[in-house]
Amino acid sequence: MNDHIETGGHQERKEQELLAELRELGYRPAVRCLSCGQWLVAHKSIQRHLGPVCARRAKDTAA
Ligand SMILES: [Zn+2]
Repeated sequence: MNDHIETGGHQERKEQELLAELRELGYRPAVRCLSCGQWLVAHKSIQRHLGPVCARRAKDTAA
């Protein structure tokens, strides 16, 4: 009846809040690149879950 559909937007916002909180506490969050599995610590890379190189590659293939 009450199908629970996960919306990407909500999840993303939660994630950003969590990351901001961790940074405030002095943690340095890291995620693995979805494409190559490398650990990323750069803020932008974490937001995308993609390293700069893979992000560019993904953009190229998407375009
Ligand atoms: Zn990568």
